[in-house]
Amino acid sequence: MLFSVRVHAADPPEWRQPFPPFHIAGNLYYVGSADLAAYLLTTPQGNILINSNLQSSPGQIKQSVEKLGFRFSDTKILLISHAHFDHCAGSAQVIKMTGAQYYVMDADVPVVESGGRKDFHYGARKDLWFAPAHVDRTLHDGDTVSLGGTTLTAHKTAGHTKGTTTWTLDETEGGKTLHVVIVGSPNVNPGYKLVGNTAYPQIAGDYRREFQVLKSLPCDIFLGAHGGYFDMKTKYDRWKSGDRDAFVDPAGYKAYVGDRERAFETELKRQGGH
Ligand SMILES: [Zn+2]
Repeated sequence: MLFSVRVHAADPPEWRQPFPPFHIAGNLYYVGSADLAAYLLTTPQGNILINSNLQSSPGQIKQSVEKLGFRFSDTKILLISHAHFDHCAGSAQVIKMTGAQYYVMDADVPVVESGGRKDFHYGARKDLWFAPAHVDRTLHDGDTVSLGGTTLTAHKTAGHTKGTTTWTLDETEGGKTLHVVIVGSPNVNPGYKLVGNTAYPQIAGDYRREFQVLKSLPCDIFLGAHGGYFDMKTKYDRWKSGDRDAFVDPAGYKAYVGDRERAFETELKRQGGH
């Protein structure tokens, strides 16, 4: 299989394994682990962090930010890809360490504020609960987040969670504008009910809408909530050997979205949906 699907019950070693932080484009940097992606946007008015990852991750993220020469305490806004513990369990700790404001997509707000207890699928899984965190601003589809001249757009791409968010922004590199897409998650996890799901009746329709949105987004730099989505390690090796365009991959983005859409449609059919 070309693209791996992450199983949330597992805790693969690469989730905790440190990874060298690196510059992606403009004011955008990678500060996550070997697979759990976190992104830093630096601005003259402070920084934006996307994803706090596991409850144990904030210390590692702080180290990565400092290795790049920035201060973790300059983090003013915290955003997430979606309200699963591998992307948001560290939020309470990040907020405590930095005083950052927490902005979350509307339908993911109850999940992060309940520490995972209100997740439509994993709510009863105590082993996946995390420290609840207060949300300062509720985001809606198409909202923008701005700080110090940097503006991100929040695209609601629900299905994987009810408020899964794909972030887009433009970066300028060598006089060229590059469209950045940070995919929230297009994956159908094992055990997800796409048909007759009383906890999430509109789940299949939301996934369908997500794929329409993802296909409509212009993408030069392809990123996502997990390094595995965009083959980070291979691209990082190219980046290290001097290829500063290693993360520019519009064809890889299209192929990934197409592959995930086919996987969704196959699973929907298998469950008797159409
Ligand atoms: Zn997830």
